[in-house]
Amino acid sequence: MKLRYSEAFYSVQGEGKFVGVPSVFLRTFGCNFRCQGFGLDRGFERTKYNPEVAELIAKDVHKSDVAFEELPIIHTGCDTYASIYPEFKKFMMDKTVDEVVEHLLSLTPEGKWTMDNGQDVHLVITGGEPLLGWQRFWPELFEHPKMGDLKNVTFETNATQELREDFRQYIESQGRIQFTFSCSPKLTISSEPWDTAIIPSVVSRYYTTAISDLYLKFVVADDVDVDEVGRAVEEYKEAGIQCPVYVMPLGGRSEEYGLNTRRVATLAMERGWRYTPRLHVDLFGNAWGT
Ligand code: SF4
Repeated sequence: MKLRYSEAFYSVQGEGKFVGVPSVFLRTFGCNFRCQGFGLDRGFERTKYNPEVAELIAKDVHKSDVAFEELPIIHTGCDTYASIYPEFKKFMMDKTVDEVVEHLLSLTPEGKWTMDNGQDVHLVITGGEPLLGWQRFWPELFEHPKMGDLKNVTFETNATQELREDFRQYIESQGRIQFTFSCSPKLTISSEPWDTAIIPSVVSRYYTTAISDLYLKFVVADDVDVDEVGRAVEEYKEAGIQCPVYVMPLGGRSEEYGLNTRRVATLAMERGWRYTPRLHVDLFGNAWGT
């Protein structure tokens, strides 16, 4: 099996439990969602593409010869649009497990996951949606002879994909890697319908898998989002899931994000949720490879 992915890069984890941890990010291709609504007015009419993506396609950007990291950044809808729309498939890499391992190791400071000083580099598998059919690829990657010192893997998932039984058993049977499911369910501002985005039975399977950890992470911009976080957390709780809840301000653009931070932090304190910054936006702005 080959892995189709848009980019891999070395950065610091910008969000959630491991904020600040040096990590290699692997961004898989494909997503079951489109999340066209971020940054747009509620109730806008969904079409095939988010308006900004439609504009790029109309200008034939998807047919251009630029490198993936030179593709334009957009400010509404899914910010990793090139990793989800099939029109941008030509910008993807399609690599064997050996090739992926070489690529990932080449990004680490010492060509390995556990450094000579004992500190370990995390692997963050993001997307797109990394728990689509790629679940069949992951055990092969983690069991590769050159990955034997990998200790920490986070899946950044939209929390809608059933964990395959064979992958669940793999996680539980190995004793080396601490897995974390960073679950980022999409609220209605994303334009994805509630019932397809908030699926407690799916998250429950991640939650009950041994040798793994889980937290919920929500992007919030206004009071409607905050109420929805409360409702979603309640639905997960009714399914037996009690885990840390992180909220983070909306805003790919640092100016927009800056306006939102203090308010979201205050709301988090009121509700007992945890505030997470978007450290990578603070450090590097909104760019590919961060
Ligand atoms: S779930 Fe994530 S990757 Fe998929 S469309 Fe939404 S924001 Fe993009």
